[in-house]
Amino acid sequence: MTYVFCPQCGSRLIDLELGGQTRAACADTACGFVHWNNPVPVVAALIECTDRDGQILLACNAGWKRRFFALITGFLERVESPEEGIRREIREEVGLSTDSLELIGLYPFERMNQIIIAYHARCHGDIVLGAEIAEYTLVPPASLKPWAAGTGLAVRDWMLRRGLPLPDSG
Ligand SMILES: [Zn+2]
Repeated sequence: MTYVFCPQCGSRLIDLELGGQTRAACADTACGFVHWNNPVPVVAALIECTDRDGQILLACNAGWKRRFFALITGFLERVESPEEGIRREIREEVGLSTDSLELIGLYPFERMNQIIIAYHARCHGDIVLGAEIAEYTLVPPASLKPWAAGTGLAVRDWMLRRGLPLPDSG
């Protein structure tokens, strides 16, 4: 996100050297606002549908320009743990109940200034898509094809941990 004006007092922002980096800061030193631009945590879920032969649910976001299936993701609400957040996102976006969560790993997503907290979620229930999801697909774990950025790195790690062969390794 970029600001032109200070969100605290409305003054113009200027470039300021702080902590070894150039930051957008308020021109009014009495205000003192600094746009630190820290990465935003995003929770993600590799959803295993235990009542659908353990297939993995991938979803295409309604806001995406191209048809691409990836993990369910979402932002955390205030005073919500990552585990609570991903359970809520799974319920809201695909209608499933989460029986267990296991952390896959943490993945910096620099292009979006995010840090992805990725879980393996074992879920069950009827799939009901929320407004954010355009369509979904179910893929057997061994047929997953990890993509090279964002949540795809979590898919790759999860497959390796399970001893599943990666498509590019033959
Ligand atoms: Zn200001």
